[in-house]
Amino acid sequence: MSQVRVRFAPSPTGALHIGGVRTALYNYLFAKKNDGKFILRVEDTDQSRYVKGAEEYIKESLEWCGINPDESPYHPGEFGPYRQSERKDLYKQYVDQLLENDLAYYAFDTPEELDAMRERLKEAKVHNPQYNSITRMQMSNSLTLSAEDVKSKIDSGVPYVVRIKVPAKEDIRINDLIRGWVKVHSSTIDDKVLMKSDGMPTYHLANVVDDHLMKITHVIRGEEWLPSAPLHVLLYKFLGWEEEMPQFAHLPLLLKPDGNGKLSKRDGDKLGFPVFPINGDFPGKDGSLEHFSGYREAGYLPDGFINFIAFLGWNPGTEQEIFSVPELVENFSLERINKAGAKFDIEKAKWYNQQYLKSTPENELANYIINGSKEAGFECSESTAIKIAGLLKERVTFIHELWDDAKIFFELPESYDDKVVKKKWTQEAVTVLTDYGTTLGSLDSINSEEAKSTLEQSLEKFGINIGRVMQALRLSITGAGGGPDLMMIIEVLGPKEVSKRIEIAIDTLAERVKS
Ligand code: GLU
Repeated sequence: MSQVRVRFAPSPTGALHIGGVRTALYNYLFAKKNDGKFILRVEDTDQSRYVKGAEEYIKESLEWCGINPDESPYHPGEFGPYRQSERKDLYKQYVDQLLENDLAYYAFDTPEELDAMRERLKEAKVHNPQYNSITRMQMSNSLTLSAEDVKSKIDSGVPYVVRIKVPAKEDIRINDLIRGWVKVHSSTIDDKVLMKSDGMPTYHLANVVDDHLMKITHVIRGEEWLPSAPLHVLLYKFLGWEEEMPQFAHLPLLLKPDGNGKLSKRDGDKLGFPVFPINGDFPGKDGSLEHFSGYREAGYLPDGFINFIAFLGWNPGTEQEIFSVPELVENFSLERINKAGAKFDIEKAKWYNQQYLKSTPENELANYIINGSKEAGFECSESTAIKIAGLLKERVTFIHELWDDAKIFFELPESYDDKVVKKKWTQEAVTVLTDYGTTLGSLDSINSEEAKSTLEQSLEKFGINIGRVMQALRLSITGAGGGPDLMMIIEVLGPKEVSKRIEIAIDTLAERVKS
């Protein structure tokens, strides 16, 4: 068996939809699983759709995701160039070969003539008017014109395209690795343009030629390309490459959260979640600059994002949901990709982020707290930041929430939760807190166990149950009725600070004591 070689072949026409990221990921996983190569090829032959900055955006997106190609325009292997616009001259010989073998033909039709043909067919109630084995004989091309006419048109610079000559009656079969056998009748395929009047190949020709020259063994791509696959199969046959034709695997669509149609940027904008890996600004449908918001900037961790994306259309067949990239590689197979579209669920993306945040070492997260405190004008040692990170990381979904939650360690409570005051700020709580606060005030440091036993001593002194005081204590320190482990908060804040906060709360809430 030859070495597995797969490619991700985006066109730089704007931001990379997460469906594209998933295609790249599955190609990457498949390559790594099979000790193969993952190639990035930029398909930029359609100059009219080319968008400046889109290629850089794709590169940066893949880098952020950690989907690193073995061969690409930036890290070429022996099959370069990896940008189709730089391969322009290479395609001509294959077009010539098809022309010589009567498998393609020159077509000189003007846009007006093409429109008129479609109109004629519509009037004749032809359901799907196309340039095909029937209509081609009424058009201006090298099948209907004499050889001299063709030559003189070409010599005098009349614009022309080259079209594939699709057979009138032939069954084309493809064994798709996900969908099984797909059979298409050639009469449903039109004579697609292979080379445009600017001398550039179209997607179809360039894609097939490059897959062949780059020795691609498996074409793994989105379902939207399935209708093009029969034409590609035909091209392999026409070019004499049928024996080495890659295997095809067409991935299921990514669906809107309600399952009704393809997930679009508009769904994300409307429902408030990103549909793109990273932020970008590109021309939208009407040409004006649009913002495409990304997962990176929304605070998602790349590994969690990848884990989430991997599960959109694939599953390992077990209950396990958390997979590192090497584990994904180990478990990935095309057989376990679903045929049906995958419903998008942003809550799952958040869940993954939370899980990955939880397992991020505290010292890595501590920087967020150190930076946040610095910006807010506070000092925070690394050891304190590590403790705070440990306390908070299980409670946040996004990393930027760490600093928001960490504020209680630097600032006095701005207010006290009214509901908790009403219910829990009682005379007996104040009595215990006064005693506890006094004891803490005389200490220089305390750990969480000592904080607890000291509290128990105060409770015992007055014969009061811990449940009647805990929330009041928390309220006096943080202003809220809930939050992370209170004894750890006391350890991090230090006994003097806690004593001060208790005193302030007792003063502030003096009028509100419930008897
Ligand atoms: N250039 C095509 C795209 O933009 C590639 C399709 C394929 O993988 O064959 O998606």
